[in-house]
Amino acid sequence: MSVFRPWRCVRSVDLIPVEALVRTGVRCLLIDRDNTCVPRDATEAPPEIAAWLDRVRAAGIATCVVSNNFHSKDVERSARELGCEVVHHAMKPVPFAVWFAMRKYGVSAAQTVLVGDQRFTDVIAGNLARVRTILVDPQSEKDLWYTIIFRKVERRVFGERDHDMRI
Ligand SMILES: [Mg+2]
Repeated sequence: MSVFRPWRCVRSVDLIPVEALVRTGVRCLLIDRDNTCVPRDATEAPPEIAAWLDRVRAAGIATCVVSNNFHSKDVERSARELGCEVVHHAMKPVPFAVWFAMRKYGVSAAQTVLVGDQRFTDVIAGNLARVRTILVDPQSEKDLWYTIIFRKVERRVFGERDHDMRI
């Protein structure tokens, strides 16, 4: 398994089939904040993302925001609005925050999935921790300058993303 390769690629978080997560034994969903839940050009998550996270929890899966964003107040507010717990200063692609969250929820790597919009942070962190990863398209064109560079590198090296919702 390449450390760069996500388990699945989906256009948007709310298109991930919740019943498939349950069926494949997921007990804990770790989710990135910026441009995964909350667009970079907005301060709140769209209602469909909040509703999807409600459905995930209703299915018995714990939800936790795992964010690299240094503005921890913003991250905590978003997590609260979305009904999620939070691990901030995650330092992805280093997998420590993923390990920390798994221990916190008492789940194994096989029971954990990490959802994010960046191959070079979210996907690598998840793969290093050996959890399943789902790569979503960024919600907004706006992003940090170095993230925009990473996205260009990703497109050059890996080509266009091959979306596949089947789980
Ligand atoms: Mg992100």
